[in-house]
Amino acid sequence: MFENLSDRLSGVFDKLTKQGALSEDDVKTALREVRVALLEADVSLPVARDFVKAVQEKATGQAVTKSITPGQQVVKIVHDELQHILTGDEDPGALKIDNPPAPILMVGLQGSGKTTTTAKLAKRLKDREGKRVLMASLDTNRPAAMEQLAILGGQIGVDTLPIVPGETPVQIAKRAKTQASLGGYDVYMLDTAGRLHIDQELIAQAAEVRDVANPRETLLVVDGLTGQDAVNVAQEFDDKIGVSGVVLTRMDGDGRGGAALSMRAITGKPIRFVGLGEKLDAIETFEPDRIAGRILGMGDIVALVEKAQETIEAEQAEKMMKRFQKGRFNMNDLKMQLEQMMKMGGMEGMMGMLPGAAKMAKQMDQAGFDDSILKRQIALINSMTKKERANPDLLAASRKKRIAKGAGLEVSELNKLVKQHKQMAGMMKKMGKGGMLKQAMKGMM
Ligand code: GDP
Repeated sequence: MFENLSDRLSGVFDKLTKQGALSEDDVKTALREVRVALLEADVSLPVARDFVKAVQEKATGQAVTKSITPGQQVVKIVHDELQHILTGDEDPGALKIDNPPAPILMVGLQGSGKTTTTAKLAKRLKDREGKRVLMASLDTNRPAAMEQLAILGGQIGVDTLPIVPGETPVQIAKRAKTQASLGGYDVYMLDTAGRLHIDQELIAQAAEVRDVANPRETLLVVDGLTGQDAVNVAQEFDDKIGVSGVVLTRMDGDGRGGAALSMRAITGKPIRFVGLGEKLDAIETFEPDRIAGRILGMGDIVALVEKAQETIEAEQAEKMMKRFQKGRFNMNDLKMQLEQMMKMGGMEGMMGMLPGAAKMAKQMDQAGFDDSILKRQIALINSMTKKERANPDLLAASRKKRIAKGAGLEVSELNKLVKQHKQMAGMMKKMGKGGMLKQAMKGMM
């Protein structure tokens, strides 16, 4: 699917990962090559530019990890960034088809593979989800296209709406809806007319059908071989009709793959499926991590770096635990925990993960807790000096007033915070002796 790009990138990174130390220039040169490779794969210029910039920034800011080479680290960053720009729907293959019969509108230019994709998706829904699907062709200008859908339906064992000559697309859409309801179908797919270019009539017709059918999904089929054109077509369809996702076809060919990389960044629309051949089961969901892996072809290195990063995190946790066991649980630690709680969406997720957290949560709950308390407590800690954070015993009454004022809060709130900190520190120390802290820390990391 991305052979050329993949070859080019592995060339760049083979060189890079073989080197021990990397200078900034080495990385710059490599990234320049990455940029050229992306552009040659027909990735749009702004997307390629942003991509390289993001990698550059992350590579500069990264702490060096002992067990891996800088080159390997750069590979991992590029991999993550690829995954990032490819990221689409969480579950691209999950079509919204509750409330039967659910209409799915298929739109796209003529020759994009729209009819084939309609049949591929119908087959998928039938085979994988056991759905009863009805397909209808709305391409009244091209009787051959209508016949084609009926033939494909016969091949995959999916019903098609009988062709009634002289009907308009809107009439066909209405009939499909009635038929789908009466016939107990789960899904009905409307294969709209395609044209060679986007024109007024095509858009007007698709919009009219959309308004009648009220589709749960509007899938745009575009030819992946057309590169940036595919992205432009998607943008235009989305502006004029509104689409819920894109299917990129002909990704089995030796196309340059740039459309896949630019689509989300430029149109904001997720790629849901990719077509990988003429056969009716040649379709796959678009999974960013798998595709990023395929493009880079360096899964081993990515796994290695992940492992090394995990080790570092574990080492940090171990260090922190040792400090807690000695009773050294300061305001910085508490702040980190409060931030962690915010990340986990408040108290619920925090319950039982840390000694003292559950109790603290209960107290907070009784006091009419809401997440704004976390923010206020963090503000209070931020308002302390470095020394005070490291050693909260230093907090004298006069300082407390200043700190509370600095955070725009009452001293009583600061006193509550200090009390909580003491309780937690005490509990940490006790549990540290019994070895229970280790368990609790594991839950938190
Ligand atoms: P439509 O005019 O958009 O409905 O296009 P069709 O569905 O008739 O497809 C046009 C041609 O493209 C047919 O020969 C299909 O077999 C072929 N085609 C469709 N999808 C793919 C794909 O993913 N890969 C390849 N290689 N060919 C495809």
